[in-house]
Amino acid sequence: MTSPAAPAFFPAIVIGAGISGLACAYTLRQRGIDAQLFEASERAGGVIRSVARDGFLFELGPQSFNLTESLRKLSRELRIEAEILSAPAKLPRYLLLDGQLAPAPLSPPAFITSPLFSGSTKWSVLRDVLGHSRPAADTAAGGESVAHFVRRKFGDELLEKLVGPFVSGIYAGDPEKLELRSAFPQLFAAENARGSIIRGLLRAKRRGGKTPTLVTFEHGNQTLGDALAGNLGPALHLGVAATIVTVSPFGARGRFLVHFAKSQESSAAANSVYADHVIIATPASAAGKLLGNLDEALPRLLGSVEYAPVAVVSLGYRRTAITNSLHGFGFLAPRSSRLRILGCVWNSSLFPGRAPEEAVLVTSFVGGAFDKAACQLPATDLEGLVHQELRRILGISEAPIGSNVQVWSHAIPQYDLGHYRRAQTLQQKLAAFPGLALAGNYLDGPAVGAVVDRAIRLADYVLDGPTR
Ligand SMILES: Cc1cc2nc3c(=O)[nH]c(=O)nc-3n(C[C@H](O)[C@H](O)[C@H](O)COP(=O)(O)OP(=O)(O)OC[C@H]3O[C@@H](n4cnc5c(N)ncnc54)[C@H](O)[C@@H]3O)c2cc1C
Repeated sequence: MTSPAAPAFFPAIVIGAGISGLACAYTLRQRGIDAQLFEASERAGGVIRSVARDGFLFELGPQSFNLTESLRKLSRELRIEAEILSAPAKLPRYLLLDGQLAPAPLSPPAFITSPLFSGSTKWSVLRDVLGHSRPAADTAAGGESVAHFVRRKFGDELLEKLVGPFVSGIYAGDPEKLELRSAFPQLFAAENARGSIIRGLLRAKRRGGKTPTLVTFEHGNQTLGDALAGNLGPALHLGVAATIVTVSPFGARGRFLVHFAKSQESSAAANSVYADHVIIATPASAAGKLLGNLDEALPRLLGSVEYAPVAVVSLGYRRTAITNSLHGFGFLAPRSSRLRILGCVWNSSLFPGRAPEEAVLVTSFVGGAFDKAACQLPATDLEGLVHQELRRILGISEAPIGSNVQVWSHAIPQYDLGHYRRAQTLQQKLAAFPGLALAGNYLDGPAVGAVVDRAIRLADYVLDGPTR
């Protein structure tokens, strides 16, 4: 912190260069605002990371994502649209029930004819289509939990065999704790608007157009972050961690003064900058720490968002070493299966170029809200336990020929009971500081498409705000 000059002024700064911060800073600059992006680590992209090694292409974070309209537009603008790879639309997804992989029934006709569910569970779905119900009233803890909702509407069997595994697949979370209204707002809205989940969802689908395709890029998901970072050029400052956001002293240019700590590798000039708009795109607790000087309740509020840890274990095998054809998306494991694997994606069945010729790549997720201890295990133990479990399920006769283990101690934010109220309180508190906004995956959904949509909306907020 040696610069004797006064801090520079920027109309907008963005803190945190995961996909949220990258998309936000890029959109602002596209619209003519001189936004600067500051990232604590030495690389941009956050949890989205792809590594090519030994002929395999390992995804360390998300394995793929839904191609929303915003993501398609971004890819077109960044000239990476031609690199998009789409997963085959109709690949089955499996559930591990009684030790066997069974195709998950994902449409109403498939569900009604599926041998996996009892007559009473099927009847509960018909009852939803024909009947009328209202969302449950809030309690002191918050809204209705996902588990309570599924039991109320459809019974235990659907929760155990289908919803629990899918909740695990998205949030690595506990359905007893996740708040329906926050974690699955489309289900809450369907019941609220139409008195029926199925009727409400079908109506939303009719209005919302076609289901987005599951995609990646030829050289992995990281292509998107790399393209955004490349476009930002010198407006992206790596190795610069924001430490605190303060209100500017009277008479200073810009509403906020933001302070930074730089890594030894960083060549950034400034220790602090003035800005009229500050968009914080870090994980929740990091955002809270930055905002303690503005409102002492914010660190507690933001720090109370829990994150589930997840270990991402990718294993490559010779094709001939596996008896299962791997024709499908992968499988999800209900808790009753007593596996430590929560779910497994069959990467090389979804996209070309994920494994060498005559080899396959499968990626399993371990840990989550129910098994936090798994994420403390050494990488070799994680690799060993996943291989042992997959051996039986997929009929594997040889050791892996390629592997990668990535542990995220704070992988997925948990939209737990009380999250909706917490988000409203946050909104009210931020309203006291025009120009300050929060991006990230703990507000409008954790999916890549959802966080990018939020980031772009915040760029609009800056443009349309009072001091654009
Ligand atoms: C294992 C895993 C699997 C997933 N699977 C899927 C999937 O299949 N499909 C899907 O759509 N989504 C998936 N997701 C979710 C999705 O990838 C994330 O929600 C999204 O990428 C988060 O992006 P972000 O920019 O909001 O946050 P992050 O990627 O967490 O980025 C935040 C950035 O802020 C930086 N930072 C923190 N503090 C500071 C500071 N003080 N100053 C400056 N910088 C700071 C961090 O270094 C980081 O780079 C998955 C996530 C994980 C972890």
